[in-house]
Amino acid sequence: MLGWGEEEWEGVDTGGEAMGPWLKERPSLPKPLTFLQEEEFRPMASKGTKAPAIGIDLGTTYSCVAVWQDNHNRVEIIPNDQGNRITPSCVTFTEEGRLLGDAAKNKTDMNPTNSVFAIKRLIGRRYSDSSVQNDMKLWPFKVVAGPKDRPKIVVNYRGIEKQFYAEEISSMVLVKMKEVAETYLGCIVKNAVITVPAYFNDSQRQATKNAGTIAGLNVMRIMDEPTAAAIAYGFDKITKDSKKKRVLIFDLGGGTFDVSLLSVLHGKFVVQATTGDTHLGGEDFDDLLVDHCVKEFKKKYNKDITGNAKSLRRLRTACERAKRILSSSVMTSIDVDYLYEGVDFSTRISRARFEELNKELFTRCTHLIEKCLGDAKMDKTGVDVVVLVGGSIRIPKIQQLVQDFFDGKKPCKEIHPDEAVAHGAAIQAANLIGQRDKEVQKLVLVDVTPLSLGVDTVDEGMSVVVPRNTPIPTKLKRGFETNIDNQTSVRIAVYEGESAEIKYNNLLGEFEIDGIDPAPKGVTKLDVWFDIDADGILTVSAKVKSSGQKKEIVISKQNGELTAAEIQKMIEDAAHYKAEDEKHKARISLEYLAEKLKSMALDSARSASEMKSMEDKAENAIAWLETNHLAEIGEINKQLKELKTSFPALCEEN
Ligand code: AMP
Repeated sequence: MLGWGEEEWEGVDTGGEAMGPWLKERPSLPKPLTFLQEEEFRPMASKGTKAPAIGIDLGTTYSCVAVWQDNHNRVEIIPNDQGNRITPSCVTFTEEGRLLGDAAKNKTDMNPTNSVFAIKRLIGRRYSDSSVQNDMKLWPFKVVAGPKDRPKIVVNYRGIEKQFYAEEISSMVLVKMKEVAETYLGCIVKNAVITVPAYFNDSQRQATKNAGTIAGLNVMRIMDEPTAAAIAYGFDKITKDSKKKRVLIFDLGGGTFDVSLLSVLHGKFVVQATTGDTHLGGEDFDDLLVDHCVKEFKKKYNKDITGNAKSLRRLRTACERAKRILSSSVMTSIDVDYLYEGVDFSTRISRARFEELNKELFTRCTHLIEKCLGDAKMDKTGVDVVVLVGGSIRIPKIQQLVQDFFDGKKPCKEIHPDEAVAHGAAIQAANLIGQRDKEVQKLVLVDVTPLSLGVDTVDEGMSVVVPRNTPIPTKLKRGFETNIDNQTSVRIAVYEGESAEIKYNNLLGEFEIDGIDPAPKGVTKLDVWFDIDADGILTVSAKVKSSGQKKEIVISKQNGELTAAEIQKMIEDAAHYKAEDEKHKARISLEYLAEKLKSMALDSARSASEMKSMEDKAENAIAWLETNHLAEIGEINKQLKELKTSFPALCEEN
């Protein structure tokens, strides 16, 4: 416990990075994608160019990856193997293997308990958090308490029960995004900027960074989503504008809501204030719709579906679809055949009813705009541009509420709500690896801390060392003194939050300095330093002034987060899962080729001997697959090669 020392504050200059231009032009869709083996990749980009660095918007529902192309002077949003520019943040575990992205999402209704989604709501949180407890009730997959109150997800993978931390599942989504980029760029990608909601706290940021490391990425920066969106919006225009512009970013996605106010002048983006809710988004609107339908089903048929994971998952899919339709129609229906115990469910829902169900959540969004402007000490008339990003801004009522709040001022709809964040992150990534483009090098970014940070002092009070909305990176010092006679140790407990009482704030970590020379209270003085890096990750150090005794902690590592050894183990596990995926893909290729050969053999133009040879080879390959479940990838590829060599025509087509 500490007492107040002299009012001693000391700051260190905040930094910023140079950044560059942005073109809104979209790339044409690339040729269909094929899966490449690692050895087929070029290890780096072609000679003379920098190894690419990607920007990843790791969303609750969907993720998006983008890259700055120096030779075209623009950002490209990278389509996945299905040609989609966004990829579901979903992982499904099956008897055969692991599915990621679209393939995983397609299986969620059939395999609900092993399909993990919305993991961003879990990452960096404790199992006992009320939000985790509430979410768990609605998720079809199982979550249990792991060591140090960390949640673990339980699934059945290849017939065996497995438990994963949220970081591991997130890393699987990142592996998918990395693969999407590598297939498109034709080289191995290591460097990445990953975005997080501006309102993410220290442990959520650190956990996201760890997920990137487990996925084999070098996470150059954890970047705030609204800042990335602001760059995507304003990079080309504002860098040329000589007047300072105030831009408000309203970012309502699948699971989180952020609102940030930035000032932009000559390519310098400075965050003035940021606020939000890490548990407010499209998933919450879906929850309320699901809840509405569950009640209706109960009323009509006196049956409660809440204990049935498959029914809940199927209902949720139908509700999310209905929600999307209600953004363009005023009425739709929610229909699920055989929802529960053989009973079909069908109901009509109007846009007005949907808005009524979500009234409180929608209003909360406008309250948070007010809070952000209040923090920035600014009137709404001072906002030059309002930019809407995130999938949920398609809801007409949300657009109307924002427009009404700004007295009829129309929000900017020029940027793509699903792609803006990845777009901005790609520019930041290009800047960090030093792409040669002059504009990319020039831009400057200054982010802020979303929450106040401080220590516990007498009477369980919160002594703020870093007030919220302080620009980062930053290093601030505050002086403290002992508050009892002959005190020989002090405990520094670090909290984040806005309450004056620590019990309402979030404990980030604590440490003690022992062996202090006994002295009357108030004589021993300490300096406590809060050092926040550009990712928003905090290190706290304390020094006894008289003796020079010093202690330091990287807060997030003390907060029940992963140790270096645990991360290393997860990296090894991730490599194992990747190898399993590749084996699975190779098996599917072999099976596909064999089946194709069988059907080609039926062509009446072929001679009887040719037909027989084709059928025999195909049957042999299928039999080999059936008897060699544990075959290694090399053996499967050997079979594949043999088949292709015997029938080169097949080879050409595949
Ligand atoms: P994001 O996290 O930004 O990708 O946003 C995903 C969220 O946007 C999900 O909850 C989607 O259901 C929601 N969403 C996407 N399209 C629409 C739409 N047309 N109307 C309402 N919500 C939508």
